[in-house]
Amino acid sequence: MQIDLTGKTALVTGSTEGIGYAIARQLAKAGAQVVVNGRSEDKTASAAKRLTAELSVSTIKTVAADVSTAEGCAALVAEVPHLDILINNAGIFQPIDFFDAGDDVWDRHWQVNVMSGVRLSRAYLPGMRRRDWGRVIFLASESAFNIPVDMIHYGVTKTADVAVARGLAKRMAGTGVTVNSVLPGPTLSKGVESMLADEQAKTGLPIEQVAASFVRQHRSTSIIQRAASVDEVANLVTYLASPLASATTGAAVRVDGGVIDTL
Ligand code: NAD
Repeated sequence: MQIDLTGKTALVTGSTEGIGYAIARQLAKAGAQVVVNGRSEDKTASAAKRLTAELSVSTIKTVAADVSTAEGCAALVAEVPHLDILINNAGIFQPIDFFDAGDDVWDRHWQVNVMSGVRLSRAYLPGMRRRDWGRVIFLASESAFNIPVDMIHYGVTKTADVAVARGLAKRMAGTGVTVNSVLPGPTLSKGVESMLADEQAKTGLPIEQVAASFVRQHRSTSIIQRAASVDEVANLVTYLASPLASATTGAAVRVDGGVIDTL
């Protein structure tokens, strides 16, 4: 199976590190012209520089914009008016007990994790529909279905991502545009490394081992019993973003190591 994205323009939100960076790298490797996005000019430029050096390509574009705001999304769309592939990856997760999570916590998660994708889909889907080809992918999570008790606010935003993707897929019915959500399980990204930093400092163990013990303790239904790598998630996203995945739409596709314990 050959994945060829030559001639396609792809935006990956929140792609300066973590899963987003890995997706940007895989899409660029498959020939897409990739737009890297993060909030700061510095981090966005250095991610693009790393990608350019790693892949020996000259097609990486950068747009620094905060996609959690309407202004940030509008600035991004003004810089990149046409897209073939939109990966709504930017997301935050902060474990806070329900009784300590104020409206600000809920609102911040909602704006970054849901509204960024809503606004960008509203801006880009009409062009994709006119050209009769497009791919929109929301990075949801296994937490969409297994609401984590220490991050109810996060789980709710991820359930919303699955719902928005399903609704938009139906809205694009009969066209060459597909919309899907991808549900990673615990994945060793920069964000997860920071979340586990205290535990790693306490135990002195390699981060992979700390992550595996987190998975066994907090996601005990995991069948792989370890965190996934960012590339394992990016592989699935790259397939779904490709012309090969033309009959998959409205789906919530798992790359969760078996955490979701349903058939
Ligand atoms: P990460 O924290 O490692 O990276 C997130 C990226 O998003 C960073 O580049 C950050 O700069 C960027 N970002 C954050 N807020 C932004 C904003 N407002 N505007 C622009 N960029 C912004 O995160 P990750 O672990 O790679 O997660 C990526 C996505 O995958 C998220 O949507 C997350 O919910 C989802 N996910 C992650 C895991 C996991 O275990 N890592 C599991 C399931 C789902």
